[in-house]
Parts: sequence; C-alpha cells; structure tokens
Amino acid sequence: MYEGPVQDLIDELGRLPGIGPKSAQRIAFHLLAAEPADVTRLQEVLQRVKEGVRFCDVCGNVSEEERCRICRDARRDPTVVCVVEEPKDVLAVERTREFKGRYHVLGGALDPLSGVGPDQLRIRELLARIGSEDVREVILATDPNTEGEATATYLVRMLRDFPGLSVTRLASGLPMGGDLEFADELTLGRALSGRRAV
Ligand SMILES: [Zn+2]
Repeated sequence: MYEGPVQDLIDELGRLPGIGPKSAQRIAFHLLAAEPADVTRLQEVLQRVKEGVRFCDVCGNVSEEERCRICRDARRDPTVVCVVEEPKDVLAVERTREFKGRYHVLGGALDPLSGVGPDQLRIRELLARIGSEDVREVILATDPNTEGEATATYLVRMLRDFPGLSVTRLASGLPMGGDLEFADELTLGRALSGRRAV
C-alpha cells in the first residue's frame, strides 16, 4: 500500500479490464514520472470521451453524432445487419474488410446470473429495426462463448417470425470461450464468409 493519491491511482487503474495489480502499479509510476504535458493530454482525452461520445440512435455503436459513420454511409448495404455484443466487436468485424452491411450492437450478452436479460440488451430496437427497414439477412456475430451462444439461440427464436428474413451465424472455427475481438482478421473473415443459416 502506498500513501494517498498514489494508491488511489493504482486502485482506479486496477479497476480497468485486463489490468492486474502489477500493471496498475507500473502504469501509476509511469504517470508519476511522465511529463506534465503528457498527463494533461491523457486527462483531456478522457474527459472528451465522456462528454463528446454517444451511442448511435440506429445501431448502438459509439458515435459522435446521432447516427454513426457506418449508418450514415450510403455505400453500406442496409439489407444485411450484423449483430454484435459490443462496439469493439464492430471494429473486429470491420478489420476483416469482409463485411459491407450495417451493424446492430446489443450492449452485451444474455447472462441471467449477472442479471442481464433480454430487456437489458438492445433486442427490442433490433426487432423494431427489422420490422421497419428492408432487412433481408441478420448475421448473429455474438461471442463464441456460453453467453454469446445463449444470446444467438434466443435471437434465432425471436427472428423466426419475420417472413423472408434469413438468419445466419458465423461459421465455427473461432476459438471457443473467447471474445470476437481476440480472433485474428483472417479467422474472423473466414467465419463471416462461411456463415450458415440457422
Ligand atoms: Zn449506427
């Protein structure tokens, strides 16, 4: 334990995902030794991100405007919607350069033990979107783990009643138990192009 603000900083950093106590300590001491201008820049970016970034009204992706860049892009095919859990998964799919459609970000996955049910996710918005837009295919690209699979299964059931809608799931071959974002571009690209109807 360190004293006062140093320990507070270590505690805050340690709360971030993927940062253990040792990394938190290393980052804290790095910041202590850093040039004041560098720390100020970090501080400003953190503040801007909380004040200026919002979520796209249509797809739920992070956005600086009402509609995100992808939803505003007329070249993107509005008839194919790729459903992902988090905004970071949009980036993962974009990196493959295989996908030219639109997205729908759920904001997580079904996880009853942690209190995440269908109402906590943007599922109602997805159904409304499919009902009002000319969507012909929904690609379920939830994470290849238990929660992601449960979410995909639930969505298949909800989407069954839309006439003429094809529902597909990423081909297997993604590392099980992981996050979509951890799959390399090639593997994810293959899973996307090899998607199958469910
Ligand atoms: Zn959007």
